[in-house]
Amino acid sequence: MRILLTNDDGVHAPGLWALHAALGDGHEVAVVAPDRERSAIGHAITLTRPLRAVPVTVNGGRQAVAVDGTPADCVKFGLFEVLDRRPDLVLAGINPGANVGVNINYSGTVAAAREAVLCGVPGMAVSIQGPDCRHLETAARFARGLVEEVARRGLPAGVLLNVNLPDLPPERIAGVRISRQGAGRLADCFERRTDPRRRDYFWQGADTQRFDDADESDGAALARRFISVTPLRCDLTDAALYERMQAWALTADG
Ligand code: MN
Repeated sequence: MRILLTNDDGVHAPGLWALHAALGDGHEVAVVAPDRERSAIGHAITLTRPLRAVPVTVNGGRQAVAVDGTPADCVKFGLFEVLDRRPDLVLAGINPGANVGVNINYSGTVAAAREAVLCGVPGMAVSIQGPDCRHLETAARFARGLVEEVARRGLPAGVLLNVNLPDLPPERIAGVRISRQGAGRLADCFERRTDPRRRDYFWQGADTQRFDDADESDGAALARRFISVTPLRCDLTDAALYERMQAWALTADG
């Protein structure tokens, strides 16, 4: 397959190169990634300043293009400027930290895969639970298998795959669950600190993920040591309310 590989952690991130290594020589892989970490940048694109893109050699001689933009910028730039023809898949990751529940809304990793789908190319985001990334190779090997399954089966237009793995060796992973986006969110908090000039500043959020209990949710799968695979739609329309709202008596003049 021809694959465009990106992430939101920057072109030097180990997760990116773990995926690159697992895809190996069997696939044609181009890397276009942010030149620095852009985690939690969501689906932002850069419109108010120019983009700079430079070829770089990283990870012991591997070629990549580093862009001083967002993950979504990297996907657009990769598709329309770097590659001479459409790839079969855009793969984003491996992100350290699960992208499940409401985190999906903030994730640059998921946004990269979503941008691919908006551009008509199948997209897949891969994340591993927690900050430690002890089992990137396990995660990357699973991702490769899923990539090849997607190559055989295809994905419907407008749909991306969001993959999250527990940071565990294969023998401790309970299996694979096809799950739904849950409602789990980060424990909201602002940690107040004081700077050397005695002014307060705040660090937002913590790594504590509160998973919701709905059994079919992505967070529940991870909490039970399953790999979670969620098909996500780009179309955010609520189909049921769309139908019901047709009966609302709304007029332009209020
Ligand atoms: Mn990240």
